[in-house]
Amino acid sequence: METSSGKSSGMGPVAHTAVYDVIIIGAGIVGAAAFRELCKYDLRVLLLDSLHDVGGDASRANSAILHGGFDPQPGTLMSDLNKEGVQLWFQWTQELSIDVEWTGSLVLAFNDADIAEITRLYHNGKKVRVPVKFLGRDETLRREPVVNPEVRASLYAPVSGIIDPFQAVVALVGSGLKNGGKLMLDTEVTHLVKLPDGYIAVQTNHGELRTKVVINAAGLNAAHIMRTAGEDWFSIHPRRGQYFILDKNVGNLVRHVIFRAPTPKGKGVLVSRTTHGNLLIGPTAEDLTEPDRRTTAEGLAEVLQGAKYLVPFPYERHAIAQYAGLRAIGSVDDFVVQHSKVMEGLINAAGIKSPGLTAAPGIAHRLIELVTDLLTLEEKRDFDPYFEFPPILRELPYVDRERLIKEDPTYGHMVCRCELVTEGEIKSVLRMQPAATDLDSIKRRVRATAGRCQGGFCTPRIIDILSRELNLSYDQVTKFGRNSKLVYGDNRRGDA
Ligand SMILES: Cc1cc2nc3c(=O)[nH]c(=O)nc-3n(C[C@H](O)[C@H](O)[C@H](O)COP(=O)(O)OP(=O)(O)OC[C@H]3O[C@@H](n4cnc5c(N)ncnc54)[C@H](O)[C@@H]3O)c2cc1C
Repeated sequence: METSSGKSSGMGPVAHTAVYDVIIIGAGIVGAAAFRELCKYDLRVLLLDSLHDVGGDASRANSAILHGGFDPQPGTLMSDLNKEGVQLWFQWTQELSIDVEWTGSLVLAFNDADIAEITRLYHNGKKVRVPVKFLGRDETLRREPVVNPEVRASLYAPVSGIIDPFQAVVALVGSGLKNGGKLMLDTEVTHLVKLPDGYIAVQTNHGELRTKVVINAAGLNAAHIMRTAGEDWFSIHPRRGQYFILDKNVGNLVRHVIFRAPTPKGKGVLVSRTTHGNLLIGPTAEDLTEPDRRTTAEGLAEVLQGAKYLVPFPYERHAIAQYAGLRAIGSVDDFVVQHSKVMEGLINAAGIKSPGLTAAPGIAHRLIELVTDLLTLEEKRDFDPYFEFPPILRELPYVDRERLIKEDPTYGHMVCRCELVTEGEIKSVLRMQPAATDLDSIKRRVRATAGRCQGGFCTPRIIDILSRELNLSYDQVTKFGRNSKLVYGDNRRGDA
C-alpha cells in the first residue's frame, strides 16, 4: 500500500501496520510544505491524501496570488505567517523551480469608504513592516492606464506577485519524496485513535497506520479530522469563489494584480495575469452550508461585473474556462496552527483560508516548531534542497531542443497545439515523482489541455499516451481518478 513512488493504485488492506514518526493528512499546499520541511530531518514521514493527485482541492482552485502581507490584522498568526511566507517563497521558488512573478499589486479606491479602507491597509502594512505606498489618481493611472478612470487613489504593494500553485504543490511533494518521504494517494483518513503505547492509530479506508505525530492539514475537512479525535471546539464552512480564465491574447491587459478595497467577506474580485500568461478574473465569496465546487450563472455574472468595475473590458469574449474553489472558513477568525487540545501528538493546521497559499511556508515552519515539542529532530546531512521539473521544450535553447528530440523523437511530436506540449514532455511527467497518472494531473504538470481549446483536440491523443504508457485500457483512463472515466466503451466493439 505504501509507495515512495507517489501512486498507490488498487490498494488492498494493509497486511501489517506500518509505523511512522509523522503522518501528514492532506497533500494541499500546507501539507506539501510541511512534508518538504520535515524531510530535512531523520524521520519516517508519510504524506497522505484522499484524492488521486496532490494539490487537488483549494490549493489548485484559488487566485494564485502571493499577497504582500498588509491585509491581515497585525498581531494575528495570519499576519505573521503571511509576511514570513512571502519571504520564504523568494527562496523556495528558486530552490524548487516554481514559476513566480513579483508583479506588485494595486488596491483601488473609488469613494471615501474605499480611501478609508486603503488608508487602514497602509497603516497595517507600516505596522507589520511590509513595503506599501499610497498612490494618487495620476500615479495609479500611469501605472495601470486601463483601470476605471473614476479611480481616486490606490495602495501599491511591490512585494506581491503571482505563482503557479499546481507547480508549487508538486515541487514541494517532489522535494520531500527525493529526500526520503513517502506518499500515499487515494487514502482517506476516517479516524484517529490514541493508543495506550503513546502512538496514534490513523485509520484509513485501506487499513490502519501508526505514528508518533499526526499533522492535520486536511483543508476543508480539518475540523472533521479534529472531531474524529474527539476535538469539537472548532468548525469550518465552505466559502466558494468562482473565476473565469481568459485567453492569452488578453493576458497583458494589466501589469499588477488589481484588487478593489476589501470588505469583511474578503478581498473581492481581482484582475490579474497568471504565470502562464492568461488573464484571471474572480473570485466571488459565497458562504455555503455544503461543499459545492460548481460554477453558477449568477456567480460568473458577479465576477464579470466586479472585474468590469475595476478594469472595463469585454472579458466574456475571451473567456476559455471557468472554475470554483472553496475557502475553509473557520469558527475562529485566524489560522489555527497548534497542538490538539485533547490528543497528544496531534497538531492541527486548520481554518487555512486566504492567504494560505502565501503563508504556507511560514505555516510549515510553525508546524516544525510544534513537532520539536514532541520529537527530537536531527538534520539529515544529505538533504538536497533543490527540485527540478522535467524539461519543458519551449523553454530550452534550440540546441538543447534538438538534442532532446534526437535522444527521444517523441519530443518532436506535438500533442497540445495550444500550449505547445509534446508527447515526450507528457511521458516525462508520467515518470516524475510525484507522477501524473490521469488527464488533470498531466494538465497541472505540463499544461496539456489548459489552453484555448481546453483539450478539444488533444484529449484523445493524451488518452492514447496514458493507455500505452501506463498499460491501461481506454476505459481505465480517468480525468481525475476514481470514477471520472473519459471513455465508456468501444463502439467499434459494439459496446452500448
Ligand atoms: C477561491 C479562493 C481563492 C484563494 N486565493 C488565494 C490567493 O490568491 N492567495 C493565497 O495566499 N491564498 C488564497 N486562497 C487560500 C489558499 O488557496 C488556501 O488557504 C490553501 O490552498 C489551503 O491549503 P490546504 O493545504 O490547507 O488545503 P487544501 O489545498 O484544500 O488541501 C487539503 C487536502 O486534504 C485532503 N483531505 C481532506 N480530508 C482528507 C481525509 N479525510 N483523508 C485524507 N486527505 C484528506 C484533501 O483531499 C486536500 O487535498 C484562496 C482560496 C480560495 C478557495
